[in-house]
Amino acid sequence: MAPAGNKYLDNIEPATGNVYCKIPDSDNKDIANAVNAAATAFPEWSALPADARSNRMIKIADIIDRKLDELARAESIDNGKPVSLARSVDIPRASSNFRFFATAILHFSSEAHTMEGEALNYTNRLPIGVAGCISPWNLPLYLFTWKIAPALAAGNCVVAKPSELTPMTAYLLSEICMEAGLPPGVLNIVHGLGAKAGQAIIEHPEISVISFTGSTKTGQLIAKIAGPMFKKLSLELGGKNPNIIFADCDFDEALKTTVRSSFQNQGQICLCGSRIFIEKPAYEKFRDAFVKKVNEMRIGDPLDESTKSGAIVSKQHFEKIMSYIDLAKQEGGAILAGGKPVSLEGRCENGYFIQPTVIEGLDVSCRTNQEEIFGPVVTLTPFENEEEVIRYANSTQYGLSATIWTENLKRAHLVAKKLKCGIVWVNCWLVRDLRTPFGGMKQSGIGREGGFEALRFFTEMQNVCIKL
Ligand code: NAD
Repeated sequence: MAPAGNKYLDNIEPATGNVYCKIPDSDNKDIANAVNAAATAFPEWSALPADARSNRMIKIADIIDRKLDELARAESIDNGKPVSLARSVDIPRASSNFRFFATAILHFSSEAHTMEGEALNYTNRLPIGVAGCISPWNLPLYLFTWKIAPALAAGNCVVAKPSELTPMTAYLLSEICMEAGLPPGVLNIVHGLGAKAGQAIIEHPEISVISFTGSTKTGQLIAKIAGPMFKKLSLELGGKNPNIIFADCDFDEALKTTVRSSFQNQGQICLCGSRIFIEKPAYEKFRDAFVKKVNEMRIGDPLDESTKSGAIVSKQHFEKIMSYIDLAKQEGGAILAGGKPVSLEGRCENGYFIQPTVIEGLDVSCRTNQEEIFGPVVTLTPFENEEEVIRYANSTQYGLSATIWTENLKRAHLVAKKLKCGIVWVNCWLVRDLRTPFGGMKQSGIGREGGFEALRFFTEMQNVCIKL
């Protein structure tokens, strides 16, 4: 549907720097229309038996699977990520999100509390109404569906906005939902700018539950608006995650996975580790091997099947990352690998590419080590003992995730418990069981996504007390 104001925005392919399509520049009138459509569809959708909603959602998952190649290619063009990554991670995860919540809702139950001889209480978990879902550009369809699927499964209707930088697979999802027979108004995908269309979702009085993933700065603004309106909020925000390498780790495994956890998707995954702490006896060996591996990484056209490192999502983000590399130098950091933009030949000569960058010699409290860069930039820091590395790891305002590498499980348990973050991986990274609670502590957000936690979030509790 055309936007009410009939205005459009340019959508740029990051690998080429060229405009390749236009997207609606929606405003509050479009959001009001979307909310009306959702509110109209809500009575019927919420009254359906869970298995009827589940069947529709499984159909959506099946179509996503069938369109894997088309969606992966669209995601790669829109975001700059390697097409092989989109095909193996992003798109399969989007269909898993639908399938997971379509089946989770069949097992969702609520509590009953009996007061012997007096009363029986049972708790209803009711769909709330119109949910607002807003997602970022780094894992476009993956994170968009991670919010939409539990909201729909729980019986809500949804108004959802993808990032204006990566709208394409959300658009394709709207076509898929129509093909799957999702009733009109149940899911309303609106495109446009954050400060305009996004904020109109936050401000709309009929949207009383909001799931947001994005930066801490936007999260703060959303909380400010939604707080006094008593909206239910789930905020998944920024991170500055530590990778902790103990000298007793399985060296090869730690090395291989830490290269991946640093630079996958050009370091633009909220769960990437950007501060690597290495126990002193292993420091030089790990540093040298890590730098060697990073220097072997090749950046290429995201649409080339063999490419493992693609483009940065936008010119603005490219400039932000480069400014942090300059800052690191000013702060006294030594660039051990990378540090420069990359010029590719041919189709991608004007794209936004940056070498994977490794920096050492910085204090843990400097800005480079405290602020989220969200790009292919990591720092290396040696540590003496557990106490010191826990202090280093917890020293930022963020608390999303961490990895610990050690063969000493007792130590892993103890250190994990002392890390102030929502997700800890021991001897692995990004292993995801969708039943587990996902989210951050401190400035990395509030609430948890995943499993029944997400279904609880998208429902309202009501206690019914019956006299016996
Ligand atoms: P962003 O905050 O700029 O934008 C995220 C979304 O919010 C976009 O759709 C945007 O249009 C919208 N938005 C912007 N301003 C808004 C406003 N005033 N009101 C309503 N919506 C608004 O973030 P980004 O640059 O797209 O994404 C990168 C950030 O996301 C990083 O900080 C990263 O760590 C974070 N992130 C977190 C997680 C997590 O699970 N914790 C996952 C992925 C990304």
